[in-house]
Amino acid sequence: MTDDVISRPSNRNVPFAFDRLRNRRMIDEKGCHRWLGALNTSGYATIRLDGKLRLAHVVAWELDHGRKPIGVDCHHVCERKDCINPRHLLALTKSEHKRLHLAQKAGA
Ligand SMILES: [Zn+2]
Ligand SMILES: [Zn+2]
Repeated sequence: MTDDVISRPSNRNVPFAFDRLRNRRMIDEKGCHRWLGALNTSGYATIRLDGKLRLAHVVAWELDHGRKPIGVDCHHVCERKDCINPRHLLALTKSEHKRLHLAQKAGA
């Protein structure tokens, strides 16, 4: 195996992750892809990839955008934590994300 292949783990995992994400969701009337697999204690969808427990919505986002940079969060615009539809996700810095949630809370 060359260094080239090892340095691109997300590419190598794409078909595998893609199938697993597609097979474990239920699309609801709002177009949310509700995760049918395991959720973590915070209610987020989780998937085991390469022996690591990952957030399924982040993996779905990475299929479209490539590796998520450190310090970036994938925010659910639809406000459904178990949704893995990449179109419902917005990449924000952690501080932007926190501010948005505080604003949402204040408005509720
Ligand atoms: Zn959604
Ligand atoms: Zn959020």
